[in-house]
Parts: sequence; structure tokens; C-alpha cells
Amino acid sequence: MSQKILIVGAGPGGLSTAMRLASAGYEVSIYEAADRVGGRMRGLSVGDYHFDTGPTILQVPRVYEELFATCGLNFYDYVTLTRLDPNTRIKFWDNTHLDLSSDLASFKQQLATFGADLPEAFDRWYIEHLRKDVIGYGPYLGSPVRSPLGYLKPAEIAAALPFRPWETLYQHFERFFPDERLVYAMGYQAKYLGMHPTACSSVFSLVTFLEFHYGIWHPKGGFRALAGGLARAAQDLGVQIHLNSPVRQVVVEEGKARGLLLADGSRVMADAVVINADFGHAVQNLLPAHARGPYTDRKLDKMEFSCSTFMLYLGVDRRWEDLPHHQLYLSENIRRHDPMWAKSAVLDEENPSFYVCNPTIVDPANAPEGHSTLFVLVPIPNLRHGVDWSTKQAPYRERILRQMAKLGYEDIERHIVAEQCYTAESWRDEHRTHLGAVFNLIHSWNQLGPLRPHIRHNGAKNLYWIGGAVHPGSGLLTILEAAKSAAHFIGEDLPTLQRTAHLV
Ligand SMILES: Cc1cc2nc3c(=O)[nH]c(=O)nc-3n(C[C@H](O)[C@H](O)[C@H](O)COP(=O)(O)OP(=O)(O)OC[C@H]3O[C@@H](n4cnc5c(N)ncnc54)[C@H](O)[C@@H]3O)c2cc1C
Repeated sequence: MSQKILIVGAGPGGLSTAMRLASAGYEVSIYEAADRVGGRMRGLSVGDYHFDTGPTILQVPRVYEELFATCGLNFYDYVTLTRLDPNTRIKFWDNTHLDLSSDLASFKQQLATFGADLPEAFDRWYIEHLRKDVIGYGPYLGSPVRSPLGYLKPAEIAAALPFRPWETLYQHFERFFPDERLVYAMGYQAKYLGMHPTACSSVFSLVTFLEFHYGIWHPKGGFRALAGGLARAAQDLGVQIHLNSPVRQVVVEEGKARGLLLADGSRVMADAVVINADFGHAVQNLLPAHARGPYTDRKLDKMEFSCSTFMLYLGVDRRWEDLPHHQLYLSENIRRHDPMWAKSAVLDEENPSFYVCNPTIVDPANAPEGHSTLFVLVPIPNLRHGVDWSTKQAPYRERILRQMAKLGYEDIERHIVAEQCYTAESWRDEHRTHLGAVFNLIHSWNQLGPLRPHIRHNGAKNLYWIGGAVHPGSGLLTILEAAKSAAHFIGEDLPTLQRTAHLV
């Protein structure tokens, strides 16, 4: 008889782990609190305007192709991808802009207008990263985490040292590009990790490279359609998905996860449980006190969580065909390195940096004819830093709407016909996210690799974590890699007869 595994949450982590486990012969059921799959990427609608809620940038399609192929499926039977060009337009504090693009010839032409020797510097950077990809992706990003001692392999250390992992991302890019605009343009991906480039290790320049090398993609129908594709694939593999089924507690008896207690009072029993719900939220709300392991309230208070995001989801009565899909405004304040700013602990009320996604230009079905949807994201402090959103929300919305003119969205307020706003409190209350910290635990050295929570929970047997809190990190790409590791660890602990080449 196959072993039964229950998963709490149908976010990307839960869905991709379910696919791998089902294809390896486990009987898998997901219990999801919301009425839709997708977690932070489940999307929302206001009337006829349909929005992505979280991710808008899809990197490295190969990772999705591999997930589906491992399960005997074809990714493109479930999801259609469109490649974007430019990848992202960055508008700087001095009103200049740079289009990051995977068309390297045109990108280098732009670089030449910033400085005659920059195209050559870019070539050096790119060639270094072709090597960094080989040395860094497989053994670190794409493999199950090892024990701390497992990383002390002389050959690997010798291979990594030329890349100067001790440098910050800021120092790394400054070494190649002596123009601060480029340092921030190339290092903005640090925000995905919930960090400032001056606080983040240069190992993450690999993420910048992956975007140049493999491009940036948009799933047709938005990321909510990607979530739908993952869910359909899971169901085709036999996974049962129960929506509107909040879990009240993981049942742990005699040191082992035995099943779930649902909010309606019923119990479902199983051989193992995987928690995809947000880590901090689940530790405090879903684990019995005796099974929390090292994650006491005191320990959680010491762990560092990412920034949150202020969101405006705007339905507007016109289109901006001339503006790119992804645009980022970097204000003068991005250059502040003092610790409170670098930690995203300060709400920038003067001149915030922000991002706008304009998906209707490639995906017109998300709004009525001639109209569009806009997704506006502003990094803000998480709830540890005490911003009173009951008084701040309305003036902050006004500030951001005015700020949007800097990216070409002039007079936006006049065009708004539908709207939804999120603060850090919405992420906490509607998405059950600890402190509203949307990018989960930050990726500082003391919270990387073996120092992040392990997929195998160390407060109870047969209990596992999947999602942004575990190695290798908090974006979709890394969560899909973590799902591979989750299937690996579960396969070691609870082997099935069918467990053959399917796993890892
Ligand atoms: C604004 C924003 C922008 C982002 N942009 C990008 C991007 O461009 N590219 C990228 O790669 N990543 C991006 N991310 C990150 C990405 O969205 C997340 O890393 C990813 O969605 C997290 O997936 P997850 O599986 O860990 O958890 P989640 O998506 O949080 O899913 C967890 C699920 O568990 C469910 N759950 C919680 N508690 C319970 C319970 N008690 N019972 C049952 N179910 C429960 C929740 O309802 C949810 O469905 C962004 C995130 C945000 C918020």
C-alpha cells in the first residue's frame, strides 16, 4: 500500500512538492485554507479586472520544464510562456533609464552611452558568470542542503574563492561598473531576497545573470494561471486538493507527525505531513508547543524576516502600450546605506522606490477592451517595525499615485476605475504571512544553506517544511528547487516501492 502524505497549503511549494511525491508513488492530499490555489500568487479580481497578487517575474523556465518532465508531463501542455523584452526598465534618480535586456548586443549599446568602457566590463562580468553558473547552480542552488561540515570540501571552496563570496552585492557590481546607477540596476534583485545590495552577499549576482541569460517570462493568463497549471498537473498525477479547508493543527504524537486537525474539527491521518504554510505563521499557529523544536517565540524574534510590500492593484480605463511590462523607479533614497534604511526598517514617505507591472500589453484578457490592469509594488517595513497603517494607508496611496508619473503613468488617479490596496497587515491577515514579511526569512549569511530551517523539521519526525523559508530561498525558482529536495528527504525517510529514478 502506498504511503499517505498530507500537505498544508497549495502555494507553489505545496503544489510542486505534491507533483513530485505523487509521481513517485505516494498518495498525496493538499489542504488549503483559501478558496483558490496559488498562495501569494493566487491572484485577485475586482469586477472585470484580474490581477496577479505576488510574483510577476518568471525566471529560468528550464526549472518548470524539469519539474513536469520528472513527473512524465510536458510543462507546455499546462502553461504558455511569453518572453519579455526588455526584461525590466530601470529609471534612475537622475531621470536617466536603462533597459535590462537579454538582447546583449542592444544592452551593450545602451551601456556605451553610460560609459565607453562599460560594454567591455559587462563582457568580463558575463563570462565570469557563465562559470559561476556551473560552479554555483548545481552544487548549491540545485541540490539538497548539506550539513555545515558538508560544505567544507577543499575542491569546492577552491572553485568558489575566485568569485569572492565575501563581498557584498554592492561591492561586487562596483568592482565591474564604476557608475552607481549600474550598481543598483544590476543589484536590484537583492530585493527579491528582502535585502539591500549593501547587506546581501555577492553570491546572488547569479540571479542577475540568470535573468540576462535565460530571459524573463510571463505566463499567459498571469501567475494565477501558472498556479492553475501546477494544480491541474498535480490532480492529473492523482493529488487530491481540498480548498476552503483550513488546518487548525498538525497532529504530533510520540514525536511523530500523524496527520492534521482541520478547522471543522475533523482529523485526517497520514504517514507524513509537509507544511507549505508560511514558516513563522505555522510555527506559532499550527505546531503544538511540544513539537516546535528550536523555534520558540524567542528564537523567531531573533530571526530576520524580509521587508513587506505596499500594493496597489489598479484597474484603469486606458492602456500604455508604449511602456514596458516591468518598470522600476530607483529613487535617490536607494543610495542610503545607514542600517535602518538598509534593513528596510524605515517607511520612505518622501521619495520611495517602486515597481510597476503593466501586464495587459502582453495579456489583454485581464481587463475590458481598451482598459488595463496595473500592479504597483513598494517595499515597506515588515510589522516588526511598527508602522500605523490605519493612519498611513490613505496618504501613502496618494504619494505613490503621484510618484507613478515618474514612470510615465501621468495623471493616473483620473483613470482608476477599480482598485485594491494591500499593506503589510493584508499580507499578515489575508495570506497568513508572519509579520507580513512577503519574501520570508532574509538571506543573510546566518540564514543561508544549513543555517536556514531544514526541510526535515527537527521538532518531530515525518514532518517537513516546503516554501520560501528553507534552502535555497524565497523566490519561485528556488522554491521549485526546494521541492526537489523535499521529495529527496521524504524518499530517504519513507521509501516507496515506486521510488526509482523519479526522485532527484
Ligand atoms: C508582492 C510579491 C511579489 C513577488 N514577486 C516575485 C517574483 O516576481 N518572482 C518570484 O519568483 N517570486 C516572487 N515573489 C515570491 C513568491 O511569490 C513566493 O516566494 C511564493 O509565492 C511563496 O510560495 P510558498 O509556496 O512558499 O508559499 P505561499 O505562496 O505563501 O503559499 C502558502 C499556502 O499555504 C496556505 N495556508 C496557510 N495557512 C494555512 C492553514 N492553516 N491551512 C491550510 N492552508 C494554509 C495559504 O493559504 C497559501 O495558499 C513575490 C512575492 C510577493 C508577495
